[in-house]
Amino acid sequence: MESLDTGKRFVESQYDPADVVAVFRHYGRVAAEESGRVVDTGNADVVSRVVHEPIGVCGLITPWNYPLLRVSRKVAPCLAAGNTFVLKPSEHTPHSAIHLMRLLEEVGLPPGVGNPVLGAGATAGAPLSVDPRVDMVSFTGGLETGRRIMASAAATVKKVALELGGKNPNVVFADADLEVALDYALTAVFLHSGQVCSAGARLLVEETVHDEFVDALVARAEQIRLGGPFADKAQTGPLTSAAHRDKVEAYVARGLAEGAVLRCGGARPDDPAPADGFYYLPTILDRCTSAMSVTRDESFGPVLTVETFRDEDEAVRIANDSIYGLAGAVWTQDAGKGQRMAQRLRMGTVWINDYHPYVPAGRVGRLQAVRHRPRAGSRRSR
Ligand code: NAD
Repeated sequence: MESLDTGKRFVESQYDPADVVAVFRHYGRVAAEESGRVVDTGNADVVSRVVHEPIGVCGLITPWNYPLLRVSRKVAPCLAAGNTFVLKPSEHTPHSAIHLMRLLEEVGLPPGVGNPVLGAGATAGAPLSVDPRVDMVSFTGGLETGRRIMASAAATVKKVALELGGKNPNVVFADADLEVALDYALTAVFLHSGQVCSAGARLLVEETVHDEFVDALVARAEQIRLGGPFADKAQTGPLTSAAHRDKVEAYVARGLAEGAVLRCGGARPDDPAPADGFYYLPTILDRCTSAMSVTRDESFGPVLTVETFRDEDEAVRIANDSIYGLAGAVWTQDAGKGQRMAQRLRMGTVWINDYHPYVPAGRVGRLQAVRHRPRAGSRRSR
């Protein structure tokens, strides 16, 4: 269902059910364990309890890139906290959400607790942020949509939770295990054709290893095989729609006009085999600077921008020079440097010598996933 809706490789879709299960299990545990706490008042006659209570009706709005996983990350905590919900999945990929709703009904969710509404954002989604009967809107999607939702939710002073886009720095120091960093840098940006909010789409590489690292990256990126969701040998798939590919093309054109150097890709494939999908070649734009729009904006496609830095301070300055703060990674064999960087990067998630693993419990607060001794091999991701 997910591959047919999004066009992503079947092998990638096969990772998702286990993560969906983990999300429901995690929030099932939270529901049973986190009933609140008693505050020490210092006065035996006064008892103060912090109690978790349902918010009420939650409007849940989700994107198309990981349809069921994104829906689950909203529905599971919402139910665990005792709320009811109106779910508006992406109009591009609604099938797995519909299926989940059927399953919830089958396992006994009381009528009226979960209510799917299907349709376009403007007609089916927008009312959720203005209707006074909705107490909270939880939205995952693009920055512009998030801004609109936050503004319109202000009229009824709703609670708002936003998970928006990213332009995530993947910082590679010269003292990293470069072979492993290279492998992960490719997966970080080209998995699901770059249509991942936490994609490592902004490579910051220490100046002294720039040539060696980027040459090897380009050589490997040029070998990536494109193909449809069910093509055995495909290593990455198409973009999700023609309109999205147009956006990615315009983004690359803008980067080239700004002075970025095209090292590979930058076009649709001329290979006739994948011609029936919205394919775009894995693209690397070198010699970028943080003044360029391509290093600032999210492409949400298979496009890597490359910048260089001289030392730790400069890496931090460049990486943090962004309106986004979703995720980032640091590659170094110096454990202290890895920890310092993780502290200084202003991102919700920072990986050290790794990219993309998520654990459901790590969604609350800041996650630093640490692996001091990186393993070689391809990673899957969200
Ligand atoms: P989008 O913002 O276009 O749409 C997301 C959802 O919002 C869809 O269901 C859409 O119908 C709905 N919507 C659109 N306009 C609306 C409005 N005015 N009011 C209410 N709802 C409206 O995003 P998309 O193209 O579906 O997804 C891609 C974006 O999602 C990327 O920017 C990506 O980074 C982001 N994303 C973020 C995360 C995260 O966890 N931070 C995860 C996945 C995707």
